[in-house]
Amino acid sequence: MQTASRYRCPCCGAALVFSSDIQQLHCESCGNSFPPETMQAVAEAQAWQDQGDQMDWVPQESAGFSGVESGALRAYRCEACGAQIVTDAEVAATSCVYCGSPSILPGVLEGAYRPDAVLPFQKSKEEAVAALKKHCSGKKLLPRGFLNGGMLEKITGVYIPFWLFQADAEADCTYNATRSHTHREGQYMVTRTEHYLLHRGGSMAFSQVPVNGSQKADDTLMEAIEPFDQQAAQPFNVGYLSGFQAQRHDLDAAACEPRANERIRDSVNAVMAGTVHGYATVSRAQARISLHHSQVRQVLLPVWMLNTRWKDKIYTFAMNGQTGRFIGDLPVDKGRFWGWLLGIALGIGAGGTGLLYLLLKMGVL
Ligand SMILES: [Zn+2]
Ligand SMILES: [Zn+2]
Repeated sequence: MQTASRYRCPCCGAALVFSSDIQQLHCESCGNSFPPETMQAVAEAQAWQDQGDQMDWVPQESAGFSGVESGALRAYRCEACGAQIVTDAEVAATSCVYCGSPSILPGVLEGAYRPDAVLPFQKSKEEAVAALKKHCSGKKLLPRGFLNGGMLEKITGVYIPFWLFQADAEADCTYNATRSHTHREGQYMVTRTEHYLLHRGGSMAFSQVPVNGSQKADDTLMEAIEPFDQQAAQPFNVGYLSGFQAQRHDLDAAACEPRANERIRDSVNAVMAGTVHGYATVSRAQARISLHHSQVRQVLLPVWMLNTRWKDKIYTFAMNGQTGRFIGDLPVDKGRFWGWLLGIALGIGAGGTGLLYLLLKMGVL
């Protein structure tokens, strides 16, 4: 006696029927049988996953700066690149820290987003200047005078706005996996492949997924000077801005959500996949992530920065204001470059170019 059920075979998709002989759901198409409880669990997981990801973030309402705070701050806008900067009212911004342009106009502070937290500077300007000097020293191809003209004075401490995404992620993944065994049966080699439908579920807390809220501070640059230890962040206070500049975000939290979701998805998938062992093949069939207690806040991260124009090209020096990690690209004096190259080429012949490349890579030049 067999009764048709509402379940479909997870292996081939045919309708399963309950077989009273074996007390299981049986597939007449592929011959597999499944306990009813297993099929119930599969159906429940499927129904949950079919709802699709739920990765909504609570839009953060900023209270805006208080009257006292507004009085202590001054806003600017760069005519050349559009950067919006906030400084301490005592210190005037004279050139744009992002593009080096001197066309800095007073801007509007009204309606500005008040950051939730600040990671205070740990490294002083002297340390940033020393790092740049050290970086330049011994660079034979650096144009003479590159560091003159108050260049080192132009190193500015800038707070870069980052959005921190925080949520508990409930995740559920199913995988198709196989195991194969080959054995001899008389004159035949028989390969037996077992198919598994694996289910993994769990929850993970994401406390601070950072996404750069500034288009002006490019991601490659910021990644090069990461990481920042967010634990040291303090509630926002205008006092931290004294003597520094802060960039106003030009990407709001909503614009940064896709990147945060992508980072969360990658982490969830990696952790889930890491729990699947001992199969010959594994492929993810379906996955769903649902976020709870989601929250977004803005933190200002400290960076010592120098963007300087040399022969119509912008060169950047940036140092993590917390750890001192820095990157910098420097101009090369063409005349000195060829002189040097010629010297090397004459000295070592054909190997010269390769060596030069090596020296550049090693940072000798
Ligand atoms: Zn089947
Ligand atoms: Zn600018």
